[in-house]
Amino acid sequence: MPDCIIVGGGVIGLMTARKLFLEGMDVLLLEKGPLGGESSWAGGGIVSPLYPWRYHESVNVLAERSKKLYPGLVTQLLDETGIDSELITSGLFTVTENNQAIQQWLQQWSVDAQYISGPDAVKAIEPAVGPAVDHGLWMPDIMQVRNPKIVSALKASFEHHAIPFREQLAVDDILIKNGRVRGVSAGGENYYAEKIVIASGAWSAQFAATRGTVNVSPVKGQMIMYRGEPGLLKRIVLSEGHYVIPRCDGRILAGSTLEKIGFDKTVSTEAQEELHQAAIELVPLLADLPIERQWAGLRPGTEKGIPYICEHDTIQGLYIHAGHFRNGIVLGAASVELMADIIQNRRPWCDPVAYTLHAEH
Ligand SMILES: Cc1cc2nc3c(=O)[nH]c(=O)nc-3n(C[C@H](O)[C@H](O)[C@H](O)COP(=O)(O)OP(=O)(O)OC[C@H]3O[C@@H](n4cnc5c(N)ncnc54)[C@H](O)[C@@H]3O)c2cc1C
Repeated sequence: MPDCIIVGGGVIGLMTARKLFLEGMDVLLLEKGPLGGESSWAGGGIVSPLYPWRYHESVNVLAERSKKLYPGLVTQLLDETGIDSELITSGLFTVTENNQAIQQWLQQWSVDAQYISGPDAVKAIEPAVGPAVDHGLWMPDIMQVRNPKIVSALKASFEHHAIPFREQLAVDDILIKNGRVRGVSAGGENYYAEKIVIASGAWSAQFAATRGTVNVSPVKGQMIMYRGEPGLLKRIVLSEGHYVIPRCDGRILAGSTLEKIGFDKTVSTEAQEELHQAAIELVPLLADLPIERQWAGLRPGTEKGIPYICEHDTIQGLYIHAGHFRNGIVLGAASVELMADIIQNRRPWCDPVAYTLHAEH
């Protein structure tokens, strides 16, 4: 019998299980599909919230800590598995007016940034931008990882350490007796453990024990990918919620839509057109590149983007680690540290109140 069962194998579940295992716990991760096949595969991998100054402090606490953790984590994964998660410091150029919220945020977190004005000054940072990108905030230190690579590296790390997991096995129910978790039922069998972590992404509110108390729901994001050459675009560029992300091999991602239409992952020609038009406005040369692929992922949406990182308040041994919305990669590494502190009854590295069940999310 493991000490802890983790339900869900996206980045949040994978990193939680790996961390607990490396700290000496016996864990078992159960995943209804393939590991890392949902939102964690589909995302852009930007290691920063878009417009961080619009978020609650509790989101930025996690984001700023994660930024420090990623280089070490990615190096560890590379050493263990030989898989490079393609962590690169592309920087992020955001088209925005300068304002007080930005200034306060920059000061509070000591972020290296410069406000840039005028087309020539912007082109000196990213020569590929179009005339619409003529002012904004340049943050040279913002990193990105490549989602399919980091989920493959995490999976390979499970194999490297022989961390137990099962794929294609959906958890149907959480077993509870006298206010304590006993285990889970999945595929007609019971799996027992004294601690259960719900890390089921957009599906986290679907269990009897979480329905009505955990307010996480799917928010579809569609993305398109261009086939380009390395060097055509160097920086991540963001304007009015649309962004382009250059990958190491020359591919360029353009995202993303925000659609609250339930558990639906179909892609649409309307979304492709919207993303393409926004992308060529930012970077005109994309008009000449073939769109190689389009996909959608279901973000674990919460109203304010503040995740749940807590023990259930009436069911002992049940932990919720979900609701990272648009920021599961950037918040993930730090979020996992907090979850592990709570599960292991250690003093948490940050104030956990904002992530509890009845806080605002
Ligand atoms: C288009 C798009 C762009 C994004 N860009 C960024 C970005 O640039 N930066 C960033 O930080 N974040 C980004 N995100 C958000 C980020 O991808 C998510 O916040 C993150 O992947 C959430 O991870 P997760 O593990 O909670 O969820 P998921 O990756 O969805 O994993 C949850 C897992 O639980 C499994 N599961 C569900 N129910 C059960 C069950 N009953 N039994 C067993 N398993 C179950 C699912 O199959 C799934 O694999 C983006 C997302 C999208 C869609």
